Amino acid sequence: MAKLQSRVPDGPLADKWSSYKSNQNLVNPANKRKLDVIVVGTGLAGASAAASLAEMGFKVKSFCYQDSPRRAHSIAAQGGINAAKNYQNDGDSIYRLFFDTIKGGDYRSREANVYRLAEVSNEIIDQCVAQGVPFAREYGGTLDNRSFGGALVSRTFYARGQTGQQLLLGAYQSLSRQIKKGNVEMYPRMEMYNLVLVDGVARGIIGRDVVTGKLERFGAHAVVLASGGYGNTFFLSTMAMGANASAAWQCYKKGALFGNPSYVQIHPTCIPVHGDAQSKLTLMSESLRNDGRIWVPKNTEDAKKLQKGEIGGSDIPEEDRDYYLERRYPAFGNLVPRDVASRAAKERCDAGYGVNATGLAVFLDFKDAIQRLGRDVIEAKYGNLFQMYEKITDDNPYEMPMMIYPAIHYSMGGIWVDYELQTTIPGLYATGESNFSDHGANRLGASALMQGLADGYFVLPYTIQNFLAGEINTPRFNTDAPEFDAAETEVKDLLEKLMAVKGHHSVDTLHKRLGKIMWNYVGMARNAEGLETAREEIRDLKEDFWNNVKIPGELNDLNPELQKASRLADFLELGELMAIDALNRAESCGGHFREEYQTEEGEALRNDKDFTYVAAWEYTGDEKDPKLHKEDLDFKFIEVKQRNYK
Ligand SMILES: Cc1cc2nc3c(=O)[nH]c(=O)nc-3n(C[C@H](O)[C@H](O)[C@H](O)COP(=O)(O)OP(=O)(O)OC[C@H]3O[C@@H](n4cnc5c(N)ncnc54)[C@H](O)[C@@H]3O)c2cc1C
Repeated sequence: MAKLQSRVPDGPLADKWSSYKSNQNLVNPANKRKLDVIVVGTGLAGASAAASLAEMGFKVKSFCYQDSPRRAHSIAAQGGINAAKNYQNDGDSIYRLFFDTIKGGDYRSREANVYRLAEVSNEIIDQCVAQGVPFAREYGGTLDNRSFGGALVSRTFYARGQTGQQLLLGAYQSLSRQIKKGNVEMYPRMEMYNLVLVDGVARGIIGRDVVTGKLERFGAHAVVLASGGYGNTFFLSTMAMGANASAAWQCYKKGALFGNPSYVQIHPTCIPVHGDAQSKLTLMSESLRNDGRIWVPKNTEDAKKLQKGEIGGSDIPEEDRDYYLERRYPAFGNLVPRDVASRAAKERCDAGYGVNATGLAVFLDFKDAIQRLGRDVIEAKYGNLFQMYEKITDDNPYEMPMMIYPAIHYSMGGIWVDYELQTTIPGLYATGESNFSDHGANRLGASALMQGLADGYFVLPYTIQNFLAGEINTPRFNTDAPEFDAAETEVKDLLEKLMAVKGHHSVDTLHKRLGKIMWNYVGMARNAEGLETAREEIRDLKEDFWNNVKIPGELNDLNPELQKASRLADFLELGELMAIDALNRAESCGGHFREEYQTEEGEALRNDKDFTYVAAWEYTGDEKDPKLHKEDLDFKFIEVKQRNYK
């Protein structure tokens, strides 16, 4: 494997992207229609990329495993999308958004990519408004903004608590327009099962029709992965139940390096776990922290009474409440970044101040905001979120404080990409949550939608041309080639092997066990001993899986259990890689909190001398340890400091 090349253009930070675009290779319109691009995924990253590439004239094949592109997990996004428009005139700028994102990610992301992200953020808003996305507006008609964690300005554009849905409808409209024009061939219910390489270049995929079970071959001049994140390794998460790591994992096994796998985000405001039979967790958007105040009782006697159900939150007088985020971080208060807020909640609950029966919950209270603004205003801002909370918990959050606890939510790690979003496999690109991304060790709220749409609408449609310009003489691919035969055989063998196990444990039973290992040892707090234990336990579980998994139904048929089983096989391997990466990173940064490395006040303690790099892992074989490659992070335009939100 050659040394990692980030391909960041030379020159001043603010000029890099425009100078890249001025000097890159382009494909002329007549040649564009001779070139095919596969896009796996129809979430915000994939739908925007597919629509934009097709609009430019390329021939696109677009894939998702759901019955409609509109069902991609992006539809669940609630709170909003960031952009440096400075509509509030509160001091925002491209540089400030760049700065906040690098700082929020605990100085573990690539400067040039993050600056570009901040730069194109404003274009995203214009694009989406032009598509008709109904962002919230102020009385005078201008777009409204609210605040998200890790920023001292209001830069988050939103459509109530349904921003992802509205943005996805915008992208889907654009995609549909291109489907109608014949520039996009849409393959819903087609799940990618393998990547096809021809002479080391990504030239196609093997898909499985999830309705018939039939394997199919698709060729193209380039492949774009937009297959989302891998939070479901933990079983319980706020992600869609179907969200998985498999497409990325297939690419990893074919030679794409995997960047920072241990960087996962634990979101502070989710509805707490309530029992063993649960299969899904629900997010309460970060936007609620604009007006909601987080607290626990000041004394453990009150906490014990709350845990026994003898009193409720509203029985505790003001002077006995500990608004611990406001106390510890006066400058950012309830709007500290997610990693900081999550750890603070865990610290209070571990110390015995939890407020529900399990002792693993804190209050998120709107009493003051309702008194100050009125119930109507709160309802207009967060109505659907309050309704969702009430439906799930049967408590009315207008009358009593919500109970929340941190949960797995997002993966900052993913397939390693260079400045062009190209992976270490030529012709293979990764966008959105599937790449290792611009968020370093911790993503700021409302920045995932920004990154997915930046990648899809504004970055990839340029950078991929630098590669495709060299392909104009390459004819369309014949999928009868031996490389396609071999890739299809690999899938067939894998699926037959899974069906042949005929064990006694359901996929979910085994997945829950993996989730517990991950949460206990690779979750909010990690240490060397626990990570070693995680590796051992995951290996044992993997063996159990391959001996005991039970997959009812048929191979060549609609078989959701088979889908889940093949995804779990990959989660098991990825889970081990996450533990390996977390063990290697002997420092705390962002969401990666190693208990051995913390300040006296319990904050993450980085080791910049030894760990200012992206850890990119190379697959070396099934039972072999992966090989570590390092991309040094060189901060030229920003001063690297200890993060401070006080
Ligand atoms: C509850 C919730 C709320 C959120 N709210 C916000 C928010 O307010 N603001 C914000 O910035 N971020 C938010 N996020 C994060 C954000 O929603 C995601 O990071 C983002 O939507 C991911 O988009 P994506 O396009 O990369 O992937 P996804 O939307 O996950 O799409 C993945 C696509 O890949 C396809 N796919 C996957 N595997 C295969 C395969 N093997 N074969 C074929 N197709 C495949 C799927 O069918 C799907 O179309 C939220 C996340 C959650 C969980």
